[in-house]
Amino acid sequence: MVKNKDLLIAGNWKMNGSKKNLSMISLLMKYIKQKKFKNSEILICPPNTLIDAFSNISKRSKLMIGAQDCSDKEYGAFTGDISPSMLKDIGSQAVILGHSERRQYQEESNKLIRSKAENALNNNLLTIVCVGESLNQKKSGNTLRVIGEQLKKSLPDKIKPNDLVIAYEPIWAIGSGLVPNNDDIYKVHSFISDKLKSRYGGKAKKIKILYGGSVNKKNASSILSIDYVDGALVGGASLKFSDFRAILDFCN
Ligand code: PEP
Repeated sequence: MVKNKDLLIAGNWKMNGSKKNLSMISLLMKYIKQKKFKNSEILICPPNTLIDAFSNISKRSKLMIGAQDCSDKEYGAFTGDISPSMLKDIGSQAVILGHSERRQYQEESNKLIRSKAENALNNNLLTIVCVGESLNQKKSGNTLRVIGEQLKKSLPDKIKPNDLVIAYEPIWAIGSGLVPNNDDIYKVHSFISDKLKSRYGGKAKKIKILYGGSVNKKNASSILSIDYVDGALVGGASLKFSDFRAILDFCN
């Protein structure tokens, strides 16, 4: 058990899942009810096709349902896009922005991510902004420079600290089974905390900093115990109930 921490554990299902997974949400709800989490928050971000159904099942429970992206626009001729208010309309309470897969495959820039984050925060969604370095950037000693730049350019100036979350996700750790050592995670998280303090002052205390990248039932307890780690963004291990539950078991 990771003591004295208000943790946020968020599951990113990416492009996985169908209505068959409704039973997993029911199991999760049952578990959350039994466990009676005092301080921790749990979020599942399925594909948009499942948000409505999942949020209907989890209404009035501690389980939050969120999305994996949103538009920086409110409405209009933007084929295929979904705005934060539309996500709220189907029960979404949160959104992940700037995931490295979107930065890479959709070529999302820091500027666009910042604009999306402004829109999401204006619509009172819990807004998780992802940052992280590539393996080459790490090998060339540029991790902190890259993270500093992403924070500076992808975060809005005006924030609601309770609604903003940062996820540190080294790109090379996502889905690879590789994880930075605890010292490296501590260094990056304390760096992010310092940057947030110098930009947002006292408000920064309320901004949670999650670690993401190959978190699983074996390493979760050790990672979640590191100072400045306020939770985890979990990909692969959030898809199977028993794996995700094993991570939640460390929370209180
Ligand atoms: C992710 O993609 O956000 C992630 C953390 O994936 P995984 O846990 O599978 O590495």
